[in-house]
Amino acid sequence: MEDAALKRLIRELENIRGTGTQLISLYIPPKYPRGDIMSMLTDEHSKAGNIKDKTTRKNVQAALAKIMNYLKAIDYKLPENGLVVFCGNISQKPGEQDIRLYPVAPPMPVSKIYRCDSTFYLDPLREMVKPTEYYMIVTMDGKEATIALVKGNTYDIVARIRSLAPGKHHAGGQSARRFERLREIADNEYLKKLAEEIKKTFEDAGDALKGIILAGPGPKKNEFYNKDYLPNNVKEKILGIIDTGYTNEYGIREALENAKDILRDAEIVRQKQAVDRFIGEVIKGGLAEYGLENVYEALKEGRVDTLLVSEDAEAWVGKYVCQKCGTEVERLAKDPEELKKAEVACPNCGATMQLDVIEDAIEEMIEMAENTGAEVFMISPETEEGQKLSRGFGGVGAIVRYKA
Ligand SMILES: [Zn+2]
Repeated sequence: MEDAALKRLIRELENIRGTGTQLISLYIPPKYPRGDIMSMLTDEHSKAGNIKDKTTRKNVQAALAKIMNYLKAIDYKLPENGLVVFCGNISQKPGEQDIRLYPVAPPMPVSKIYRCDSTFYLDPLREMVKPTEYYMIVTMDGKEATIALVKGNTYDIVARIRSLAPGKHHAGGQSARRFERLREIADNEYLKKLAEEIKKTFEDAGDALKGIILAGPGPKKNEFYNKDYLPNNVKEKILGIIDTGYTNEYGIREALENAKDILRDAEIVRQKQAVDRFIGEVIKGGLAEYGLENVYEALKEGRVDTLLVSEDAEAWVGKYVCQKCGTEVERLAKDPEELKKAEVACPNCGATMQLDVIEDAIEEMIEMAENTGAEVFMISPETEEGQKLSRGFGGVGAIVRYKA
């Protein structure tokens, strides 16, 4: 499963609350023996028979049965990183049973976990969702510098650079002028080397690099910024210059803490730019698609460059099959009920078609976007841009590479 689709599913699952401890999370490692999993599930099923609360007992047993049936149905063919299954009663109405099963092919190998709780156990999956963006933090003073690449809440130190300039107080022997000159040369070498390392990190990260924070004690960082050590395309990525007490790893952590607001604002700015770009294209009748059907179609054709989705957008796709001639068609709707009620005539023979399945269209769209190399922006509905996207365009829009 692709990252954005997985993130969306995690968001959906974390909002589900069981009325008792009845939501099952099962993580099956790759190549884990079928017999072991099946006998564990059978055991749990009979243990669940001892649950005092009748509704909880019924729901847990139904969920376990559903998991076992699912594993049989796929003939226990596990994806390469193993399989994660979430299953339980998601109905919030007392007495009503709506057992749902959510299978996930994890992006990284999983270890075996079985949980039955009032929420789904999502932590291992959360940790696997790779951030699609990186930030660079550089801490520096006149003597040394550290470069780190920040991914979500973690960072990697990518380089440490030290100046070879001698201390400010020179030993006797040489003239003060000559000493100063040597210091300047060494200082210039140090800043050049630092600029090179920053540029290299910038190039390695590519488009995923969303910004750079320059940090450290004292005025050296400002001097470095103001003189022309960094090429313009790198300089443009600098989001802020902030003070920290250290230039080593402690400094990186300090900067990460102090830069949180800057980084959050930068993400909001990026979202805003994407929505503005989209609206600009709409206004001039250029490279934009909007309306659920048009965006869906553009994604299918692999024409989408940037997909914008409001975090609260909802859409469903119904897949209909003609019983007479086998023709298949898809219909989109904001409300799944509409799809259930729809009378769809076969475009080929005119017979009434049958609804085969209803799926989450937003999830499908994100997946198609990622499979075709489009950038996906999940726009918060709390921002002005999110409002524009929600109200004006029904929550989805796309900037396309070309018009059909
Ligand atoms: Zn037909």
